[in-house]
Amino acid sequence: TSAPDSADCLFCRIVAGEVPADLVVSTDEVVAFRDISPVAPIHVLVVPREHRPDAAATAADDPAAIGRLVAAAAEVASHEGLDDYRMVFNTGPGAGQSVFHTHLHVLGGRDLAWPPG
Ligand code: 5GP
Ligand code: ZN
Repeated sequence: TSAPDSADCLFCRIVAGEVPADLVVSTDEVVAFRDISPVAPIHVLVVPREHRPDAAATAADDPAAIGRLVAAAAEVASHEGLDDYRMVFNTGPGAGQSVFHTHLHVLGGRDLAWPPG
C-alpha cells in the first residue's frame, strides 16, 4: 500500500517516469537507476515500485520484496561487470537516509574498505 505522502516522494516520481533518471534495470516490481551523486564509480539505487518509507517497513509488510531488491542488485552488478560490490540500506536520518522511499544502494568499481567509518 502507498503511503499518503507518496505523491510527493522523489523516488515514486522516478518510478512513475515523472522525474528523469538513468535506468539500469526495470521490472514489474523494481526500478534501478544511477545515483545522481555517486560515491563510487558504480553507484546504483534499487527501489521497489511500491512506496514504503524504509527497508524496515518493507521487510515488515512484504519480506519477499527485500529478496527481490537483493536479487535485482545482483543483476545490476552483473550488468555493470562487478564481481565485488556493496549493498547498503540506510535506515533513518542518523544513518544517512535522506529519501524516505526504500532503496538499496549498490556500490562498486573501487576498493571498498570495511568497516566503512
Ligand atoms: P539515502 O541518503 O537516502 O540513503 O540515499 C538517497 C540517495 O538518493 C543519495 O545517494 C542521493 O545522491 C540520491 N538522490 C537524491 N536525489 C536524486 C535524484 O533526483 N536522482 C537520483 N538519481 N538520485 C538522487
Ligand atoms: Zn515513494
